[in-house]
Amino acid sequence: MATPTEPADPWRSRLSTRSRSQRSSAVRDLLRLVDRPEILSLAGGLPAGELFPVERLAGAAVDALEAAGPLGRRALQYGATDGEAEFLDWISARDGRPGTSSLVTTGSQQALDLVARVLIDPGDVVVAERPGYLGALQVFSSAGARVEGIEVDHDGLRTDLLGEALGAGLRPKLVYVVPEFQNPTGVVLAEARRVELLSLAERYGFLVVEDDPYGQLRFRGEVSTALGPRHDHVLRLASSSKVLAPGLRVGWCTGPSVVVQAMVVAKQATDLHTSTWCQRIVLECLSDETFMAAHLDSLRAVYSAREQALREALSGHLDVRPVDGGLFSWVDLGSGVDATAVLTAAIERGVAFVPGEAFDASGASNSCARLSFASLTPEQLVEAARRLVAALESSAP
Ligand code: PMP
Repeated sequence: MATPTEPADPWRSRLSTRSRSQRSSAVRDLLRLVDRPEILSLAGGLPAGELFPVERLAGAAVDALEAAGPLGRRALQYGATDGEAEFLDWISARDGRPGTSSLVTTGSQQALDLVARVLIDPGDVVVAERPGYLGALQVFSSAGARVEGIEVDHDGLRTDLLGEALGAGLRPKLVYVVPEFQNPTGVVLAEARRVELLSLAERYGFLVVEDDPYGQLRFRGEVSTALGPRHDHVLRLASSSKVLAPGLRVGWCTGPSVVVQAMVVAKQATDLHTSTWCQRIVLECLSDETFMAAHLDSLRAVYSAREQALREALSGHLDVRPVDGGLFSWVDLGSGVDATAVLTAAIERGVAFVPGEAFDASGASNSCARLSFASLTPEQLVEAARRLVAALESSAP
């Protein structure tokens, strides 16, 4: 942003109205500082890089290059916009139901963008979890949606509050949920609430967008049943980012055919198709059941140990509720505490986290923080916890 002494860049006035209205937030500006090597970051949403299955991916990459198809070197050729046929078969065997279609996307983030493009007109209502995934809130807001946040508690989205809002006249085009190990709170949507959400979707005619990048990272407790394969009102999004590697940029979605076909047309104008080579690498790995079982076991064991290390290191200082999977813990830093102010003190002491206000569509400041335990070792997590407690003590009123 231009300071008073700096003239405004003349290109700014030429940006579209939509781009000009997108502003950097105070939290984002602070988080730009956390890439310094001395900072132990609990802020990133990144999976652990040392767990990427490099050898298996390299083998699959070579296999894909060597496979020829009717169009020649298939992995390096243009492909269909909806995705490689074998990949689409694999997706629909898992998530499909009558009347649905599937689409391979450039990460599940692209599916969020496409769904907003094909469903949202400016002023339409979207319901999202509060707190909720920042990347989705941004997509819906920049499509012109009015984002209504509905509170999340330890059992996920408060479907009772959603029911009340609908009863009072709220008419969303879609309700966006992350039912497994939600970003940012790590909670799972309880089964009774899943049933209630689906029945509200049917009654009020909205689409449920089920975003599930973390479901396979369960390290404790019972597996829940996904929403997509059991109801017509669901568009289910999944991704290889957290189970293989995010740099591949391969995600997919399945849902009502009319919606998915409209997304295919929108995707064609965006990037023609998701990388053919990456789709073939991902498909080879995901369909190798022996490899995936062992790989997921090792991811779960590492994340479980890290989650426990952080929780135990903070116990006695902060009440971190155990999570059963995923990458995130959520903690209340104490009533009346402004988490964004604590972040400034934390960065000075060499630790970072994401303050709760980043996950609230209204941007209201609050006392909560998202702590990612995924990409630091248990020893680093213990040190990060020590620095966080010191920052908190130093910023106490
Ligand atoms: N949804 C959620 C809830 C996420 O946390 C993320 C990434 N952090 C994404 C979608 C995007 O993932 P990707 O595009 O890598 O599949």
